[in-house]
Amino acid sequence: MGGSDDYRSCCRTAAADDPGAIFCPGCGQALFRCAAADCRRLVAPLGHCTACVSLGLSLEKSAVVKARLGECLRVPFALRNNASVRPLSIRSVLRDGTGLPQEAVPITWEQLDAERTRAFTVATGPFVNSGINSLRLTIVATAAFDKVEETYAFSGDLAIEVEGADPTQVVQNFNLSGADFGTAGMIVANPRASGTDRSRQADALGARADVALERAERFEVERGYRGYDRLAARIPRNVEFVYVGFPAGDKPPDGPWLQGPVLRCGRNSRTHDARPNTEPNDLCLRIYDPPSGELDREASAVISRRVCDFVLQNDRLYVRSAGGSGLELNGERLDAGNARVVNDGDAVTVQGGHGKALSFETGFRVSSGLVTQVRFTKTS
Ligand SMILES: [Zn+2]
Ligand SMILES: [Zn+2]
Repeated sequence: MGGSDDYRSCCRTAAADDPGAIFCPGCGQALFRCAAADCRRLVAPLGHCTACVSLGLSLEKSAVVKARLGECLRVPFALRNNASVRPLSIRSVLRDGTGLPQEAVPITWEQLDAERTRAFTVATGPFVNSGINSLRLTIVATAAFDKVEETYAFSGDLAIEVEGADPTQVVQNFNLSGADFGTAGMIVANPRASGTDRSRQADALGARADVALERAERFEVERGYRGYDRLAARIPRNVEFVYVGFPAGDKPPDGPWLQGPVLRCGRNSRTHDARPNTEPNDLCLRIYDPPSGELDREASAVISRRVCDFVLQNDRLYVRSAGGSGLELNGERLDAGNARVVNDGDAVTVQGGHGKALSFETGFRVSSGLVTQVRFTKTS
């Protein structure tokens, strides 16, 4: 789900050939890209950039992963940032499994630079069930792109077979599901026959063993890292935006944001100009006289050239205040630099001169866990 498989081979070729292309000339598919200017790789509407966000989890070769009932293990792991440029911030590592409540794993570091590996230890047990015990690690990581920060969760599973209380049941197996480490794939040990430290060393893996990680999308939404928990829905990159009631020259075409995850809003026009308007807006926020439909220049002059950005981030819509103008979300003033999540039915107001204001309301269309359309409907 949400992988680069969302694109055909013609799209991938087109995107690689022309870094500026926003449509595939072969099939017409919109090409959504990584928000980092130094990357711009294709990203699926719900996916992450696999070049910028790529974690590798492995068990250290010294890991001893054998336990008897009632025993605890301290398992050493290594976490690698496979990206060549982008650092990751590791927000948390959570552990759960058979008979184990979900608990945060204490890690003393946060920053994981590109191409770097750092270590942490997971304490498990005491094991209360003999036989197959599962151990799951969920890693929450944040990456900063040029104008957005994205947080993702990834999970990896191990299976540990714990020896039962019956002394005749002496064989225990340890296996990594989904891992590929050749002949070391299954470790069979008999701890009753080997009680010394030396033998515990012999029980160690002997080689680093990879643990397959997968995006934990349900966890992301349920824990509030991505999407809207209450709606149980996420906004994909290809969501359709519709601007209702704005003058034709003030609004972008209805449809997805093809240039990136940011919609710039303010008094400045949509037209780029070398001198007065080097940073044109996408959506102009100006006040018009209701009966005549004419621009109220005096009332509009109070509005900042750049009022705010709407940002698609973490499968949600945010509004981020850009200046000192009177921007309000549901009547609450939003000062420069502050950002808020925008929900279905929110009211956005920009105060102009002479007590006049421009307001619009948001409306989400939701279908099967996805927000398929976001409407900005002008109310004044
Ligand atoms: Zn194509
Ligand atoms: Zn990227």
